[in-house]
Amino acid sequence: MSRVYNFSAGPSILPESVLKIAADEMMDYHGSGQSVMEMSHRSKVYDDIIKEAERLLREIMNIPDNYKVLFLQGGASSQFAMIPLNLLNKSKKADFVITGQWATKAYQEASRYGEAHIVASSKDKTFSYIPKLDPSTFTKDADYFHICVNNTIYGTCYHELPDTGDVPLVGDISSCILSEPIDVSRFGLLYAGAQKNMAPAGLTVVIIREDLIGHSQDITPTMFKYETHSENGSMYNTPPCYIIYIAKLVLEWLKNDIGGLENMKKINEKKAGIIYDFLDNSKMFRGTVVKEDRSLMNIPFVTGDADLDAKFIKEATAAGFVNLKGHRSVGGMRASVYNAMPVKGCEALVEFMKKFEEENS
Ligand SMILES: *Cc1c(COP(=O)(O)O)cnc(C)c1O
Repeated sequence: MSRVYNFSAGPSILPESVLKIAADEMMDYHGSGQSVMEMSHRSKVYDDIIKEAERLLREIMNIPDNYKVLFLQGGASSQFAMIPLNLLNKSKKADFVITGQWATKAYQEASRYGEAHIVASSKDKTFSYIPKLDPSTFTKDADYFHICVNNTIYGTCYHELPDTGDVPLVGDISSCILSEPIDVSRFGLLYAGAQKNMAPAGLTVVIIREDLIGHSQDITPTMFKYETHSENGSMYNTPPCYIIYIAKLVLEWLKNDIGGLENMKKINEKKAGIIYDFLDNSKMFRGTVVKEDRSLMNIPFVTGDADLDAKFIKEATAAGFVNLKGHRSVGGMRASVYNAMPVKGCEALVEFMKKFEEENS
C-alpha cells in the first residue's frame, strides 16, 4: 500500500491512525456485530458515540455550558441561509466582512432575508489580506456580525477578532476548526463543515449560544430552525451517523495523540513555517498573502508563470504530492496543511520545491 501526501483543501486528509481504527471496526463495532454505518441512530450503542463526540468537542474546544453543539447536514453552505433565518429577528440587519467567496455567499444569502451590510472588503486585491476594521462603521443594532475566520481559497486568517460589542459575532470556521484554541465565548455562533479538518464530508457542526435559539423568522422550514435540532439532541431526523463516528475518532486522536489544541497549534505553526520560510527565500515561488494575515491551514503560492505552475503541479503529482492546484479564482498552487498532515509531509514538499527550482531556473 502506498499513500500520497494529500494537500487537498477539502475533503481532505485524515489521520492514518483514525482510518486504521475505522477499518478495524468496520465489520463489528465493539462487539455489536454491526458496522456503525448500519446501526440505528436510536440505539444505545450509537447514542454513546454521538454523546462522546459532543463531549470531546466541548472538552477540546473548551465550549462554555451556555452553548449548544448541533450536528447537522447540508454543509456550511446551508448555514449561509440558516443563520439569517434564525438570527435576523429584531432589526433584521447584519454586517459582513467580505474576505472571499464564502464570506460573499454568506452575505448574498442573508440579503434574501434582511438587510445585509458590507462593512469592509479585500476584493480589490484578490482577497490577499484581511481588511482593517473600524468599529464606528459597524451597524449598532445589527442582529449579527459575520466573518469567515479562515479563508480557505485565499489563505488568509483573522489573527485578531473584531470587537462587536453586544452584537453577536458569527464565525465560519470550516477550515480552521480544531487547528488552534479559539475563544468560543467571543462568538454568538460558530459553524464548520467537517470535511476540512474534522471528518469526511456530510457533517456540519454548529456551536450556538443558547439565547440565540428559538427566534427564527416565520418562514423558516422546520429543518432550518436551530431549536428543532437543539431540542432533539441533533436527532430530529437521522443524523450523519458514520461521519459523527469518524469525527469522534478524530477528536480522540486530537486529545490522546496530539494532546489538545495548544499542542496542535504548535505543530501547525511548525508545519506552515517550513513552507512559508521556503517561500520567503525562494526566487521562483512566492506566497500570495500579506505576511500578517497568513493562514496556518491553507497556503497559496505562485511562480508568476502559468506554464511553470502547471509543470510544477504535474511533476508534484507524479512524485506523490497531490491536490496542489490552486483554486480557479487564484490560480497557481495551494498547499492545505490541515491537522492530519504530518510535519514530514511539509518537509518533503519543500525538498521537492527546492529541487524543482534548481532544475527549472
Ligand atoms: C468549504 C467551505 C465552505 C463550504 O462548505 P460546504 O460544506 O461544502 O457547504 C464554507 N466556508 C468555508 C470557510 C469553507 O472552507
